[in-house]
Amino acid sequence: MKTIRLEQPGRLALLSSDEPASSLQPNEALVRVRRIGVCGTDIHAFNGNQPFFSYPRILGHELGVEVVAVGSESQHVHPGDHCSVEPYLNCGHCIACRRGKTNCCVSLQVLGVHTDGGMRESLIVPSSKLHPSTQLTLDQLALIETLAIGCHAVDRAGVEAGEFVLVIGAGPIGLTVVQFAIEAGAEVIVLDINPQRLAFCREQLGVTYLINASVDHPLEALKQITSGDLPTAVFDATGNPKSMMSAFAYPANGGRLVFVGLFQGEVTFDDPNFHRRELTVLSSRNARSADFTRIIGLVENARINTAPWITHRAKFADTVAEFPRWTKQETGVIKAMIEI
Ligand SMILES: [Zn+2]
Ligand SMILES: [Zn+2]
Repeated sequence: MKTIRLEQPGRLALLSSDEPASSLQPNEALVRVRRIGVCGTDIHAFNGNQPFFSYPRILGHELGVEVVAVGSESQHVHPGDHCSVEPYLNCGHCIACRRGKTNCCVSLQVLGVHTDGGMRESLIVPSSKLHPSTQLTLDQLALIETLAIGCHAVDRAGVEAGEFVLVIGAGPIGLTVVQFAIEAGAEVIVLDINPQRLAFCREQLGVTYLINASVDHPLEALKQITSGDLPTAVFDATGNPKSMMSAFAYPANGGRLVFVGLFQGEVTFDDPNFHRRELTVLSSRNARSADFTRIIGLVENARINTAPWITHRAKFADTVAEFPRWTKQETGVIKAMIEI
């Protein structure tokens, strides 16, 4: 079967590889990959700046698949079903798994990151990680994982209707946070330095409060928007150390700050500021099964419109040639989708 493998930073190769094993464990399913979304993690891996990443690796963790065969204990999916894949392979018995926090399992293996993913014609996955829908398109199914990142982050903060929420960084991940903050009924403010990204928030997601940090003074703008209160929840989706450390200045007293993006290094902050405001600082990693179920329902019920998300598209055979273009910010990629 055809497989695309990242051999080393900057070099993807289209290879011919063996089909997956023909016998399935009772809890496994064989799936045919139909759509692969490309995200920041893939681009960092391609550029050689993804932490804890080893080569060669088959990328692909945002997957829309068709079930080919299931093991004897796989009850909820059947051959022919179209599914989204929850790519977070957890151990099931560590302290995090025992407490239902499967997204941050002690020995978590993310498909396409820590273990080979879906840039190939077929693969075997635990059937519990398949989330079927009879209504969604394969494109939509491949978008569920990326949406799940924002869904989980907004859940972490327990965002409530009517509160002011600031999202810093309107890249693909920040946009998913914006989407779910809107879904929670929050008054959403977006801060970025890129006018195109801010325009996308206004035009495609209907965000009214936009701050361009390269022109406006963020703290002053936030005070103006919130009548001096400041936002009660702040999300940083930049992965930029300077932004993340500046973000401690933005939550209201009693507010929370959620780091969705990450970087290799230390976060430092002023303790009196942190204490005076009694801030809650949270990290958010991946998502859980329930997020996938919930998002599929929201897309089925047209509460979330996935139409604006896919900006670029390629056939599997053209991916090796197209991929380098998607790594350039000026291409304006939000989500590139590979068809296979
Ligand atoms: Zn991703
Ligand atoms: Zn675990």
